[in-house]
Amino acid sequence: MTVIRVALAGSTGSIGTQSLDVISAEADRFELAAIGATGRQPEVLIEQARRHRPKIVAVSDTSAAAEIAAALPECEVRAGADALASLATEADVVVNGVVGFAGLSVTLATLDAGRRLALANKESLIAAGPVVQLARRTPGAELVPVDSEHGAIHQCLRATDNRSRVERLLLTASGGPFRGRSAADLESVTVAEALAHPTWSMGPKITIDSSTLMNKGLEVIEAHELFGTPAGDAGYGIGFDEIDVVVHPQSIVHSMVEFTDASTIAQLSSPDMRLPIGYALAWPDRIATPFGRIDWSTLGRLDFEPPDLETFVCLSLAYQAGRAGGTAPAWLNAANEVAVEAFLAGRIAWGDIARVISATLDQHDGAPASDADAVVAADLEARRIAALQLQLVVAATGANA
Ligand code: MG
Repeated sequence: MTVIRVALAGSTGSIGTQSLDVISAEADRFELAAIGATGRQPEVLIEQARRHRPKIVAVSDTSAAAEIAAALPECEVRAGADALASLATEADVVVNGVVGFAGLSVTLATLDAGRRLALANKESLIAAGPVVQLARRTPGAELVPVDSEHGAIHQCLRATDNRSRVERLLLTASGGPFRGRSAADLESVTVAEALAHPTWSMGPKITIDSSTLMNKGLEVIEAHELFGTPAGDAGYGIGFDEIDVVVHPQSIVHSMVEFTDASTIAQLSSPDMRLPIGYALAWPDRIATPFGRIDWSTLGRLDFEPPDLETFVCLSLAYQAGRAGGTAPAWLNAANEVAVEAFLAGRIAWGDIARVISATLDQHDGAPASDADAVVAADLEARRIAALQLQLVVAATGANA
């Protein structure tokens, strides 16, 4: 078996640690070449390096670099803003498990180096869609999604050789912890309630995004970038009107593709992120290790219902930004990161997240996403506007209290 060298950006996060599980489970297939993270948890990174023995350890934050280098004399330690992106040329596959817009440099460096990108960092693809599409055309570059829904669609699309036979994509959503509740009822839910996801174990940012359905909205844009927009031979000609969201609380069907003959292919598995991670690492092969095999004798029922767009406004905001295109998805993403951080810090209510994003998008300047610098500038401008909107929300809440 050809050994696949893997670099792991964001190794200390939820995707990172589950990727290490997959790599360890198939040590004859995968070789961990490098790991990297922000460096804010040096002790975790040191422990990972001692256990999994990568040759290179990278940290974007330089403050802990000396401590890490002293603890790992056998490793090459790289530190600084470009350290994570520098891992791109050290492996056959780079897993981008960085959280948020900060993952953009890893996405672009990996594709520009003509390597396979196992993408869990959906924010970089959403914010910088047009720029990432150009980078995807680099010879050898390949983008395999780690997001469970997009991994599912990637599998379902293998059911046809004719791209024009794809009718629509159906993204499933668990509905999050607040499915079935009204907007008024949800106005003042606590951070702990929003973090209690019913089916998936994930990091805090994406778990809050799941509670607002912004995660699904970002995934609609992600699906459009991955499978819709023509990028060389990568596109299926799918527009936003052909990407639907279906709420499926059991999280067993991870997404579906409907073809022109009205046949629908679905991908089913237990809600375990190690499966889409393993799929992206081993593709076009499959890993041999089963993670959470379905027990059909106890599975029971699979339910489906439409999303409640009145309550979960963020899903509509994402469609709106996706259709607007250009830097609008970058604005959506930046405003969401600002609002979620404020919610997690206890500064705003759950219902304010959508308000901050909506008010920010209302001020979108319509700039195109012409290159990486334009996207970074759009991200900064949107954060500035979102911070102002946040202050207005906080001030209004204070006045009402
Ligand atoms: Mg997902």
